Amino acid sequence: MTLGLSGGLSASLSGAAQLHGPLLEQTGVFRGNALLLTGPARVGKLALAWAIAAQHNCAGTRGMYGEACGQCPSCLALAAGAHPDVLLIEPRATTTTGKAARRRVIPIGAILESRDKGREYDVHVFEFLEVRPTWRRRVVMVQGAEFLGQEAANALLKLVEEPPHGALFVFLAEDLRAVLPTIVSRSARLNVAPVSDPALERALARQGEAADPALVEFAAGRAGVLAHAATVHAALTSAAEFTDALGEGLLSALEAAEQLEKHWDPAWHPETLRFAWRTLPPHQRARADAALLALQEALEAYASPSLSFQVLALRLREALGHA
Ligand SMILES: [Zn+2]
Repeated sequence: MTLGLSGGLSASLSGAAQLHGPLLEQTGVFRGNALLLTGPARVGKLALAWAIAAQHNCAGTRGMYGEACGQCPSCLALAAGAHPDVLLIEPRATTTTGKAARRRVIPIGAILESRDKGREYDVHVFEFLEVRPTWRRRVVMVQGAEFLGQEAANALLKLVEEPPHGALFVFLAEDLRAVLPTIVSRSARLNVAPVSDPALERALARQGEAADPALVEFAAGRAGVLAHAATVHAALTSAAEFTDALGEGLLSALEAAEQLEKHWDPAWHPETLRFAWRTLPPHQRARADAALLALQEALEAYASPSLSFQVLALRLREALGHA
């Protein structure tokens, strides 16, 4: 099973209760077959889904929001990333022949055995649901429900309508309109909203992280950022350093580009760079953004990374009026 959360699943589980208590209160008494959690990227949907899986398998005394106890054997197994009753399905990136067009999709192979070789999942949903729960309830979490292909969704429907052994489906989606109506209509929908800055600060403190005003501002209420606090902190720092170096002359800019390439994290650097540029005048920001997009396209097209980063530095120096 893939660990959905870095930096301590158990801390994130209790964090989910503090940040999204009222939602957990509802999911704790939910007796239906499928939940659909919607909300912006990194708002904390996945942590909440893990907390729901914990909740529906917990054998201990629940907390004030009906959240899992965190101490019973089921909760401990889940926190260790070794819970036998939870399956996380995520989209795969597929590259169409030739050009870089990368598309994310949950193929039929995620749901049942398919002839589509090379796209199989280690465990598919049908197989997973044939087995009785070890604890109380098998939970299938579908991250990126909007990427379910029609064929995969059709295969899922029967399972969602009559889940073997009373299993629970938790679908996660950023864009509700992109989720197939057949899935939406069979699910109880819950909106996961951003939280306040003070709530994020308290959550950071509970995680044992130092207060980091830049991180809280960057997170903008998205609790999912906290699960990656150390990574984001590093990306924020390198984005700020790189941006500073652009104005220190051509040589510094090229050296900084080399450093950025070395530490490049496609999950966080584009966003942290835009964050570093948030105070620039709009016309500079637009040109900087175009340079960043060009870099991302070049990397996806497997252009030479070192050359692409050098070009980024040059274009940014121009965009920011340093050249
Ligand atoms: Zn428990």
